[in-house]
Amino acid sequence: MNAPLAHQHLLDSATLPSAWRALAERCAQPALVTDTTRRITWANAAFSEVTGYSLEEALGRSPGELLQCEQTDPTTIQRVRDALNRGQSIRCQLLNRSRQGRLYWLDMDIHPFGLAGEAPRGFVALAMDMTAQHELQEREAAHARRLKALFDLSPLGLALFDMETKRPIECNAALSRINGFSRADILSGEAMRHVPDAHLPVREVWMASVRLGEPFGPLESVILHRDGHRVDVSMSGASTQEPGGRRMAWLMVQDISKRRTTERLLAESARRDTLTGLPNRNRLDDHLEHMLARTHAEAGWGFAVLLMDVDRFKVINESLGHDAGDSLLVSLAERLKQAVMVSARLVSGIDSLAAAEQEGWLIARFGGDEFAIVAPGLSTQLAAASFAEVVNGQLQPSHRISGLEIQTTVSIGIALAHAGTAAAVNLVRDADTAMYEAKRLGRRQYAFFDERMRSRISRALHIEEGLRHAHIRGQLRLVFQPIVDLETGLPTAAESLLRWTHPTLGQVPPDEFIAVAEETGQIVELGRWALFESCAAWTRMHREAPEVAPQRISVNLSRIQMDDGLRLLATVRAALTDTRMPPEALQLEITEREVMSDPDGARQLIDTLRRMGVRIAMDDFGTGSSSLACLREYAFDTVKIDKSFVKDLCRDAHVMAVAHATVSVIENLGMISVAEGVEDDGEVAALQGMGCRYGQGWRFGRPMDEAALLAMFKAAYQR
Ligand code: C2E
Ligand code: CA
Ligand code: CA
Repeated sequence: MNAPLAHQHLLDSATLPSAWRALAERCAQPALVTDTTRRITWANAAFSEVTGYSLEEALGRSPGELLQCEQTDPTTIQRVRDALNRGQSIRCQLLNRSRQGRLYWLDMDIHPFGLAGEAPRGFVALAMDMTAQHELQEREAAHARRLKALFDLSPLGLALFDMETKRPIECNAALSRINGFSRADILSGEAMRHVPDAHLPVREVWMASVRLGEPFGPLESVILHRDGHRVDVSMSGASTQEPGGRRMAWLMVQDISKRRTTERLLAESARRDTLTGLPNRNRLDDHLEHMLARTHAEAGWGFAVLLMDVDRFKVINESLGHDAGDSLLVSLAERLKQAVMVSARLVSGIDSLAAAEQEGWLIARFGGDEFAIVAPGLSTQLAAASFAEVVNGQLQPSHRISGLEIQTTVSIGIALAHAGTAAAVNLVRDADTAMYEAKRLGRRQYAFFDERMRSRISRALHIEEGLRHAHIRGQLRLVFQPIVDLETGLPTAAESLLRWTHPTLGQVPPDEFIAVAEETGQIVELGRWALFESCAAWTRMHREAPEVAPQRISVNLSRIQMDDGLRLLATVRAALTDTRMPPEALQLEITEREVMSDPDGARQLIDTLRRMGVRIAMDDFGTGSSSLACLREYAFDTVKIDKSFVKDLCRDAHVMAVAHATVSVIENLGMISVAEGVEDDGEVAALQGMGCRYGQGWRFGRPMDEAALLAMFKAAYQR
């Protein structure tokens, strides 16, 4: 085939115009012709289809009038007009409205036509319906705007990297908020210049993921803020391939520093006591393990563990309220810090608490009113005892709590740790055992743990456990010891005394189990039981033998029962009412120790009970130091002279003189004297000689059960 052949098919000039016309008529693109005044002189079928106007309707009208609407862009219209006025071609895109009201875009190509060198005879316009393309563009633009908004508003820091230059080409505001760098600093790469070492491995992983085209993260890392502080972040990313093959990578950065801080606080608070801010039991245990490891590593090195319990904290807490109790604990914690500072300075010249902690000193709160101190290097009893003295010294000044001056002491149990100590739990347990021993010795005492202590404590635990159900199981009973008028030799009253037969331990002496019951608080329940039983026994005996039964029953009270005065009053009232015993027949025995532990409270309680008609006896008189003063201050009905006095009466002239003076004071104050522990006739004679009115002791009768007591009284009065 050669080119000239094609010319044979050219149309001749006669057929040409009709061919053009046919082509233009059938052309799928709208086409029209106007005269110079821009009136439509011809339009094709496609024009009618797009605009909705038939040829007849279109003829003689201007395209502007037919097509344009208020949405059509006026500047484009002006541009078209200007070009046509100058007789130039123009191509434009216009938004038009069809006859039916449909909006459509037309791309118009307008050309003047006519003979060369002459003014144009008119214009031809070839149009293309661009509506579909415009809608598509519009949709894409809206989509892009939405994505941009998402990008700008995202709380995630976002950056898009060009992996050829390894530089970010886009970033959002959140990223600037996270790292403090401006957009310009981020895009210039400035922000990436300073990276903490901890972040380097994460960056490596990211790069590798990008190379492999795999998603990355989330990985937690740390970046540097512009002002130098470290920011905890979580990072993730993905890479994309651009159409040209360029690799882009997204990096998403989430600021997790708030979460991290909360996590750290939580972790720390699990190891700290919230009230005092001191380490708690968890921390202490870890610390002890750590310190024990050191005893194994360093020959001869050791340390002490001191466990402290605030004396009478329960009373303070309950009488002043829990807020005051809390303040006291906080104040105590401060004093303990001082004690540690003082000792650490003495032992190793350390002058701050932080430095002492570095050395291994630790103060912990166990919960409640118990504290512990770990004292490194104090491996001898002497060293640990000196420290205990320092602690006591620091606690000496009173604390100012809610306007009151409160003085506190602690009981301290000490365990020494050395290379042979097996485990931290043993240390704490031993110190705890020693602390119980210290408490037993009284207030402000300290005790060192030794093995014998453990068996003693284990018996105490046995007793505590056994006591829980003793009266329910009928292991408790009351016995009564007669009180005799020394002048007539006749029994007039009796003291009730508790007896307990433990299933395995056998008879447990009341001194022993009552001490345990006082420590555990079980005494309140025991005391209540003893009171009800004593009153019931009095009533039974009076029902059986009203003429001769004991006029009075004397019941012992514990200081713990007195701590809760209201409850005690209620118990006494209930016992009297339930058993219909007259108040005058009941005598309550309290010791000086009980009175002195809360002088004002005791006075109120004694006064109230006496107003009810109940009699009060001071028990074990002469064993305390301020006994005589105590007698003058409180209104007792009876004073029971302790058996230790009576024992030495006939052996020691000095004791005899003191006893004599004591009986005189008692009688002069209008109180009744009762001598305890009277065992023989010599003592009876001596007591009679000094004017003592009553006696109680084996000479007259051992503690016995109710039936035996009543039999004894019957026998005495029938003679
Ligand atoms: P207490 O109140 O001083 O009781 C007198 C103690 O002296 C009793 O010991 C009694 O058996 C003993 N005793 C009596 N006559 C003689 C004697 O001639 N010579 C000698 N050496 N001792 C004599 P018990 O029964 O062992 O009681 C010991 C302590 O236990 C009581 O001392 C009392 O403080 C306490 N106690 C007993 N029962 C109760 C109770 O129901 N409640 C409370 N809170 N304490 C009680
Ligand atoms: Ca007594
Ligand atoms: Ca007594």
